[in-house]
Amino acid sequence: MNKRFVIAIDGPAASGKSTTAKQLARKLKYVYIDTGAMYRASGLCTLLQNVNLNDEAALKNMLDNISIKIEYAEDGNRVYLNDKNVSERIREADITKLSSQIAVIRIVREKMVELQRKIGENGGVIMDGRDIGTVVFPNADYKFFMIADVKTRASRRWKEAKENGEIIPMDEIEEELIWRDENDSNREISPLKQATDAIPIDTSGMSIDEQVDMIYSVIKRGENA
Ligand code: C5P
Repeated sequence: MNKRFVIAIDGPAASGKSTTAKQLARKLKYVYIDTGAMYRASGLCTLLQNVNLNDEAALKNMLDNISIKIEYAEDGNRVYLNDKNVSERIREADITKLSSQIAVIRIVREKMVELQRKIGENGGVIMDGRDIGTVVFPNADYKFFMIADVKTRASRRWKEAKENGEIIPMDEIEEELIWRDENDSNREISPLKQATDAIPIDTSGMSIDEQVDMIYSVIKRGENA
């Protein structure tokens, strides 16, 4: 039987992580977990339950009772917050910003990391995020760190939004990406950074197929080793 690895893919927003991870999971028959969706769902939860981010007791209470489920679906994973399908809502601009704000809070990160380790404990999983290779699974079998220049990333986001019927000005997208990268990279706890043993991949000039093939071939080599 093939080995069932834990594969970590980290990198800044819109660097190609989730599209690559999704396709790779399909090819390898692994579970794909988008950990950003978990921070997004937590952010949405604070909004729905009127929890002030500075009120640690209220936040703790919310986290003690939170249920976040990620379910596979052919057209993209579904995300359930307390049994409600929030897959579309968590992609909206206010939640995007809120997810990065809530991600600096220690008790939020502790809870998310606990959930993520549980999901990945038996292997056969690809997780994408910011701290998977550094904090969640420092002993992951494979670690990749995807980057791309900001223009490429903004144009990917623009196209994605257009496909969903939304036209967002390019400079607005760029501004949001730069703000989020800075917030994610400069926070005190688990900042976005490349693990020393991660394989860096600059996806700026690459197609999705090339990104998937590159990682797939590295993993296949490992499976047969
Ligand atoms: O990946 P995505 O853009 O959906 O992530 C939303 C936000 O969640 C990020 O900007 C980041 O602040 C936070 N995040 C994180 N750690 C992760 C995944 C996401 O801090 N592992």
